[in-house]
Amino acid sequence: MNELADRLVSGDRAALAQAITRVESTRADHQQEARDILTAVMDRTGDAWRIGLTGVPGVGKSTLIEALGKFLTGQGHKVAVLAVDPSSSRSKGSILGDKTRMGELAVDRAAFIRPSPAAGTLGGVARKTRESMLLCEAAGYDVVIVETVGVGQSETVVADMVDVFVALMLPGAGDELQGIKKGILELAEILFVNKAEGENEKRARRSARDLEAALHLFAPASKNWSPVVLTGSALTRDGIDTLWETITKHRKALEEAGELDQRRRGQQVRWLWSMVEDRVLSQFRADAGVRNAAGTLEDAVAKGSLPASEAAERLIASYRGGPERGSSS
Ligand code: GDP
Repeated sequence: MNELADRLVSGDRAALAQAITRVESTRADHQQEARDILTAVMDRTGDAWRIGLTGVPGVGKSTLIEALGKFLTGQGHKVAVLAVDPSSSRSKGSILGDKTRMGELAVDRAAFIRPSPAAGTLGGVARKTRESMLLCEAAGYDVVIVETVGVGQSETVVADMVDVFVALMLPGAGDELQGIKKGILELAEILFVNKAEGENEKRARRSARDLEAALHLFAPASKNWSPVVLTGSALTRDGIDTLWETITKHRKALEEAGELDQRRRGQQVRWLWSMVEDRVLSQFRADAGVRNAAGTLEDAVAKGSLPASEAAERLIASYRGGPERGSSS
């Protein structure tokens, strides 16, 4: 076995961090090593609870992850926190999974927190997070929480790598449903209206009822589970136990129906093809013939003098099957 893989499965946190760095690296030798490690540890993956979590900035994701994380490590679980945030940049303060936002969990020996890989394409960031999730599982983390702010299509991507998708909501004042992306209601299997404490509590309950009503407009993603709306407070940690209980019920319902396995198999096969598509497309774009032809064809399509369908045919026909070689730049 690969030495790093060996240390990783023995639970060595530094080895886990190093392996994830390999996964995130763009160097060809690192990527090869990452594949070797993943291949070596593959049969130790798959036992974890994979939980996706989304919500707008400020809704309380890090506070909730900290609360849920502490609750779970208190019960003997090992918790890993990962993030998908293709837009992440320090200036925007949107870096997810940031240790400074989860101070208590960050120093918990039973927890492992990894910020989102540096900005890149959503597909690239998602691949890295998915592979990091497998590495965390192999290192013995039995709960993996994948966080996203839900920019663009990132919720869809996260929902497709987890077993259950949880959306955090803010208690609104009646018009709250307007601001909610339709995608959230289609993907979320558990909704948690956060900040439901003190004066907010009544408003939160009303929001929860509105959300329940809105959910009836969508066909549930699973025939074995109807979305559940909860209220609670990440700050006072009220409702965190109910959240976990609901996640447990969800898992049980899917497991008993055989849907959990089925879901994961589907996710893996889709992942395989998305990686093939990425690779094939980048090879195509790097091809000498394609690069020579692309500029003219793009111009013609932009000007409207050539239909895109015809340009696509010509571009594909210009593919020579290899990148530019020799002295040409
Ligand atoms: P994130 O951007 O979604 O990760 O949100 P944070 O967890 O950073 O929380 C944003 C702000 O909301 C912080 O000031 C938190 O202290 C506060 N907050 C989070 N959860 C709660 C809650 O349940 N009740 C109240 N009152 N404030 C909360």
